[in-house]
Amino acid sequence: MKKRLMTGFTPTGKLHLGHYVGNLENLLKLKSEYDAFLILADVHALGTPSFSNLRYAEIQGYTIDVTRDLLSVGLSEDEVTYYVESEIPEIYELAALFSMYVSHNRALRNPTIKDEIKVKELGDQFSLGFVNYPMYQAADILCVKGEMVPVGKDQEAHLEQAREISKTFNMIGKNNNFPEIKTLIGRVGKLIGTDGNPKMSKSLGNTIFLSASPEEVEKKVMNMYTDPKRIHSTDPGTVEGNPLFIYLDAFSAEVHKNQIEQYKELYKEGKVGDVELKKYLISVLNEFLEPIRERRKQYDDAKVLDILKKGTEKAREEAKNTLREVKETLKLIY
Ligand code: ATP
Ligand code: MG
Repeated sequence: MKKRLMTGFTPTGKLHLGHYVGNLENLLKLKSEYDAFLILADVHALGTPSFSNLRYAEIQGYTIDVTRDLLSVGLSEDEVTYYVESEIPEIYELAALFSMYVSHNRALRNPTIKDEIKVKELGDQFSLGFVNYPMYQAADILCVKGEMVPVGKDQEAHLEQAREISKTFNMIGKNNNFPEIKTLIGRVGKLIGTDGNPKMSKSLGNTIFLSASPEEVEKKVMNMYTDPKRIHSTDPGTVEGNPLFIYLDAFSAEVHKNQIEQYKELYKEGKVGDVELKKYLISVLNEFLEPIRERRKQYDDAKVLDILKKGTEKAREEAKNTLREVKETLKLIY
C-alpha cells in the first residue's frame, strides 16, 4: 500500500510562483509514489480577519480557483484527492478533541502564529480560531492520516505541533494509529515577493499568479523591486537577494542558465540595465507558465466542483474512520 501524502491551501487568493517552488514542485515529484490528498482549508481562511469580516463571500470562489491552479500545474484528479475542509464535520470534531491536549501557552508560542500576527499586522485583533489553527491543521492532516507533508518554510513550525498531537494520541491509545508526520520543504522554502518582502504572499499582494496572462506578467515584472541602491543602469548592481535574479534562477529552464550567469556578472559591473533584464525575465516566466495556461483550459467551474465533490466524499469516509478510532481511544463511544 502506498503511503499518504497530504498538504493544504488556504483559499484566500489564487496560487502564485511562491507556491510552486515552495511545495507544488514537490507534489509533482511525489504524486506517483504516494497516495496524495490535498485540502482546501476554507474554514481556516476565516481566520484571516479581512476575510472573516468583509470578504467571506469570496472564499468559495477562491476554493475553485485554487483547485483549478493545482489541477493546471499537472496534479490531475486521477492522481490526487481534493477535499474541502468545511464539508467534513469530522475535522471540527477532531480539532476540538485535539485542543484538549494542547496548552494555551503552547498554542501561542507557535512561531508561525507569532510571525503571521506580525506580518499581517493583526495586533491583538486575531480570533480564537486563528490561535486554534494548528489544531485544525493537525485535524486536516490526521483525518486522512497524512504522513508526508510537503510545505513552504513558513509552515514548518505549525507542523511541529501536529506532530506532537499525533504522538500524544498514539501514546494515550498505546497504539500507532497516527503516522509520524514528515515535512518536506521545497527547493525555495520562501520565495521573495515582487516588492522585496521576504515572502511572496497572497495576503500581501506582492505576487505573480500561476494564472497570470502574458500582459499581467509583463506589468508585474516591469513594476518589480530590484536593487534600490542602483539609480542608473551603469551603477554596479547587487545580485544577492535581488528578486530579478532569484526568479530567474528559480523559474528558468536549463537552456537559460549560461545566459543568466553572464547577466549576473554584467549586472555587478553595471553593464546591463534593469529594463533589459526585466524583459528577459518576462520571457522566462511566460515560457514557464505556458503549459500551465494550456492545461487550465480543460477545467471549467462545473468540472472543478465535481472533482471537489467526489474527493470530499472519499476523504470524509477516511475522516469518519479516524474520528471513530480517536473516540475509541478516549472511551467516547456510547
Ligand atoms: P496567506 O498569506 O493567506 O497565508 P500564502 O500565500 O501563505 O497565503 P497558503 O495557502 O497559506 O498561502 O500556503 C500554501 C502553501 O504554500 C504552504 O505550504 C506555504 O508554506 C507555501 N507558500 C506560500 N507562500 C510561499 C512562498 N512565498 N514561498 C514558498 N512557499 C510558500
Ligand atoms: Mg500562509
